[in-house]
Amino acid sequence: MSDAAMTQPPFSLRLIVDKDALAANWRALDALSGAANAGAAVKANAYGLGVQTCVPVLRDAGCVMFFVAHWSEVAGVIAHVPGHQVAVLHGVLTEADCAYARTTGAVPVVNSLEQAGLWQASGGGRCHLMVDTGMNRLGIAQSEAGDPAIAALQIDILMSHLARADETTAMNRMQAELLQEAADSIPHQRISLANSAGIALGAGFAFDMTRPGLALYGGVPHAGLTDSIRPVAQVEAQLLQTRNLAPGEGVGYNSAFIANTHIRIGTVSIGYADGFLRSRGPDNALWSDGRRLAILGKVSMDMVVVDLSAAPDLRAGDWVSVPWNIADAAQQTGLSPYEMLTVIGARLRQD
Ligand SMILES: *Cc1c(COP(=O)(O)O)cnc(C)c1O
Repeated sequence: MSDAAMTQPPFSLRLIVDKDALAANWRALDALSGAANAGAAVKANAYGLGVQTCVPVLRDAGCVMFFVAHWSEVAGVIAHVPGHQVAVLHGVLTEADCAYARTTGAVPVVNSLEQAGLWQASGGGRCHLMVDTGMNRLGIAQSEAGDPAIAALQIDILMSHLARADETTAMNRMQAELLQEAADSIPHQRISLANSAGIALGAGFAFDMTRPGLALYGGVPHAGLTDSIRPVAQVEAQLLQTRNLAPGEGVGYNSAFIANTHIRIGTVSIGYADGFLRSRGPDNALWSDGRRLAILGKVSMDMVVVDLSAAPDLRAGDWVSVPWNIADAAQQTGLSPYEMLTVIGARLRQD
């Protein structure tokens, strides 16, 4: 390897993951799960915060089961935990998927009779099973529970997924009952239903294992979790350049902001390619030591321009903070808190 490849490159953007908060959130969700154990959804690169950073923290906090969506996500997780502790939610679609499962030890969540047959044909063994109880996305139908292809499986976790856990609706209870019904006829080791919001629904939803994702990373999908969850993600970016505008001068693409007075501005190293989407521009601001730096004009791919009137001392190279309070930002942009996290770009992660 060349020196350049071995040396840590300089960054003008950073995502700070509060590891203590992440661990505390897992412990809180595990405690709220009662007698059940909390696992962790770490799909989509731990919701944008980085598998390399998050999985070791969750493991050290006591988490044993890790859920990803794709087989391509397995390698990053088994760098830190044994393969048998990783469940792949999309299941197996091809023989190559089955072969990869056997190589890595990661365990498929079987979602259909076809997947059950494919897994058995490849040699079978421990798997998980998703039962559809109303989400209509993945999982076998209730009516398929008695199929010989299902009876042949060696099922560890029998699971389903709540469609409306963040709402107060009879559907939640119904889904729990349907899962219990399926469990009465399908042999299994453990049962799992609740995601983050589902944990807040109470003991009747925890079964043997819960699968929080969003709340681990600081999202609060249910008011019942407000006091238990700490923010985890913090974003900072470097100021690249400062300048002075005269009245009538515009900023950025389409001159979407035009100065009506002399104003000092700064260009910051974060843009929509980093997940700081254009929808976060209008009426939004970055911050420096409690001083508000209003965003001027359109967010570019790699940069955004801010008003430095409140912080005239700032110079190129100084760091400013980029609000990533997912509840507030989600409200401002219309994005969901899940989107606020998963849009975080690769240039923000230093692992
Ligand atoms: C993503 C996912 C979770 C985690 O959901 P959160 O709402 O982020 O807590 C749990 N189970 C399944 C099947 C998922 O796809």
